[in-house]
Amino acid sequence: IAIAGAFGLLIAWLIVLNARRRGDDPIAGMQRALDRGEFIPYYQPIVDIDTGRICGCEVLVRWRKADGQMIPPGSFIGEAERSGFIFPLTLSLMRQAAAELGPSYATRPSLKCGFNLCAAHFQDDKIVDDVQEIFQRSQMHLSQVLLEVTERDALPDMDTARNIIASLQAMGVRVALDDVGTGHGGMSYLLKLGVDVMKIDKLFIDALGAERQSTAIVDSLIDLAAHLNMDVVAEGVETFAQVEALRRRGVRQAQGYVFSPPLPGSSFVQLVEAMEPA
Ligand code: C2E
Ligand code: CA
Ligand code: CA
Ligand code: CA
Repeated sequence: IAIAGAFGLLIAWLIVLNARRRGDDPIAGMQRALDRGEFIPYYQPIVDIDTGRICGCEVLVRWRKADGQMIPPGSFIGEAERSGFIFPLTLSLMRQAAAELGPSYATRPSLKCGFNLCAAHFQDDKIVDDVQEIFQRSQMHLSQVLLEVTERDALPDMDTARNIIASLQAMGVRVALDDVGTGHGGMSYLLKLGVDVMKIDKLFIDALGAERQSTAIVDSLIDLAAHLNMDVVAEGVETFAQVEALRRRGVRQAQGYVFSPPLPGSSFVQLVEAMEPA
């Protein structure tokens, strides 16, 4: 039995080794895809609902496999965050966005470009140097960069996060709290992190006008943002009724399918060039 057991273990070990060599290891697979340029940024326009003009975009990653298949972030971001692969991935998206949007952004200084960061990015100040290095030498200016930190993940060390955010702001970068209303932070993230922008989650926008409780939450978030001197962006806006409800409440910036889905770089650049005078 002992010999059979040992033999079984040996077989299992050989299978794992072989899988690694063939590249079934998900992290090695993602690293190879990164080297091949398979992770690309899509850009969702953010619109000023008073004027209809584009104020910027949010970068949303897509994995474009060699066969053309598009993989949405939901199926690999979790693994990327757990493994640390999210760090090189995020830097690659920043470099690609800076290169792709740089020429149109250079002549339109009020446009912003938002990037999604994860909790781990706000625990190590290397991100400050990386962002400075990427955008200082690019046509996209540091003052056009918006970094989003999601309320969905717990921030293990609030003081470190607060200091990193302050260092980024000192370089002219703006910081947004993403998915507000859904996460761990509650009011404490809004009060303690000192962010510039509040992104109100789709969950509350969906219910605008329909459910009284969600409407009350949106109203109090907007009120809080005004008191804290923060800009508000409404996420996941899908209907004109929602746009109207936001307008009545004085919310100016919105993002969602009612305006545009996330677009490939060439389409977003075309839209900007057509709509926004340089
Ligand atoms: P998020 O940051 O909340 O991004 C908004 C998501 O809502 C995007 O999904 C977007 O395509 C989708 N969306 C936008 N407008 C509408 C709408 O009107 N209706 C509906 N139903 N959906 C809308 P996506 O691109 O699948 O991204 C999902 C999540 O993956 C993002 O949520 C973000 O948390 C994460 N993610 C995406 N790209 C990155 C990245 O580069 N880094 C990190 N760390 N996370 C990322
Ligand atoms: Ca986001
Ligand atoms: Ca440093
Ligand atoms: Ca969000």
